[in-house]
Amino acid sequence: MSTPTLDTIAGSRAAVDLAAVREMWGDLLAAIDEAPRGEWPPRDSRALGVVTVIDSPDGPTIGRIPLTLREHPAPLNLNALSAAVEVERALFTAADHIAHQAQRPVSTARDTHGRYIRNPDDLLDPARWHPATSAGPGSRHHGMHWCAVWLEGRALNDQSADLFTPLSAGALAELADIAARARRVVEQALARAGRRTVLDAPCPWCSGTLTAHTTGDASTAVIVCGTGEPCPAPVPLSGGMRVWQGAALVPLYTALAAAAEKTGDSTHG
Ligand SMILES: [Zn+2]
Repeated sequence: MSTPTLDTIAGSRAAVDLAAVREMWGDLLAAIDEAPRGEWPPRDSRALGVVTVIDSPDGPTIGRIPLTLREHPAPLNLNALSAAVEVERALFTAADHIAHQAQRPVSTARDTHGRYIRNPDDLLDPARWHPATSAGPGSRHHGMHWCAVWLEGRALNDQSADLFTPLSAGALAELADIAARARRVVEQALARAGRRTVLDAPCPWCSGTLTAHTTGDASTAVIVCGTGEPCPAPVPLSGGMRVWQGAALVPLYTALAAAAEKTGDSTHG
């Protein structure tokens, strides 16, 4: 086993970012079908001045032809749609390029008449990525999730018999950049969709960063302190983090309001 090189580091980074994109993808697609949130953060907490909502400057982005549109005939959140289209296109294009560079062409066989044909077993190998052609979308048909999985395999140089050759250092670095950008785009879209909102106000107990997560309506909001276990906030730990949800949100809001009031006093007094 060789020591990690810059190449393998770039490959691992790409794989980590691609996995993150995959994990957020469902949330992003769900966000397309929801109007950008006005409900979260709740109006009353915004009135307290403790929370900033990142504005979502909706611009018309129709005209792109994503596969996602098929499942979203009436997108309500154009930011989320635009992010999904951008990420999908970037990863699909990367997979097409990499397939051309690092995937063995389909081998030939002879049919019953002795004519050379493309070996059907090799052609149908599920590990293959089929680039889009004028005849059809190829493996894009299987969606972004499979595309990300396939790219992760290339980033980590997972072998499938002799199907793939390792990516060059340049190709790995490029893939790492594409994956990092895709992750940023998805994260930002989810933040704008109100699914992940970093609160302006720090944790009243430890000054850590508070992040609000929503998965559906505002009633399912969960707020997490980024400090983790050392945070002395009087709520139970969940996965090593202080997490407020349900009724526990009330004392948190109260503490945030008290802190905001104090800050206001010191600014104005
Ligand atoms: Zn805290």
